[in-house]
Amino acid sequence: MKISEIFYSIQGEGMLAGVPSVFVRTSGCNLRCSWCDTPYTSWEPEGVAMRVAEIVAEAGRHPARHVVVTGGEPMIQPEIGELTGRLRDAGRHITIETAGTVLVSVACDLMSISPKLANSTPREREGGRWAPVHERLRYQPDVLAQLMASYPYQLKFVIAASEDLAEMENLLDEIRADRSRVVLMPEGIDPGALAERGRWLAEICKERSYRFSPRLHVMLWGNRRGV
Ligand code: SF4
Repeated sequence: MKISEIFYSIQGEGMLAGVPSVFVRTSGCNLRCSWCDTPYTSWEPEGVAMRVAEIVAEAGRHPARHVVVTGGEPMIQPEIGELTGRLRDAGRHITIETAGTVLVSVACDLMSISPKLANSTPREREGGRWAPVHERLRYQPDVLAQLMASYPYQLKFVIAASEDLAEMENLLDEIRADRSRVVLMPEGIDPGALAERGRWLAEICKERSYRFSPRLHVMLWGNRRGV
């Protein structure tokens, strides 16, 4: 399996924000978000090939019970079922971070799904050559429904503007999501912008009963790799 990085940090986002976790970042993605914050796993994928046993052993070097399998898109990895099964055998709590476009059978304690909104389509980058594929793949309501029915889940959205909210709420209606499992995070890659947008978004969460999530890793360490 192609692995971009394995590191120990705290979960920065979502229902488990603050929990010490080992991150296993797979390399390779079926989407090409215009604003992708891990281009080294999508636009220019890099990493090393590791066997499942090596990945499990590396994760085991750290004192955390929680393992976050992220990407890229971990659900496109052919060995994702085997990896998550071995992590479960080792007693780990497994979060999978996915865009929710691919359905495969995995061992998972929290399916952390981040459906991609229209603002992700790369209309300019590389002359827009990825835009048609991305637009066709990014929203798969049947896959989302199956993932929600099969695993404990959260739906995470990064919100930059009110148009994002309107689109997200249409999507939530369409897939009949449990609103108590929806987590909203402010868009931003520096602590100042996050705080300002966060105050705006917190008011919306209060009004509409969504869960607000910080982005602790950006707050603490800025927009860097391996944190
Ligand atoms: S789904 Fe995630 S990894 Fe893939 S392009 Fe979008 S932001 Fe990047």
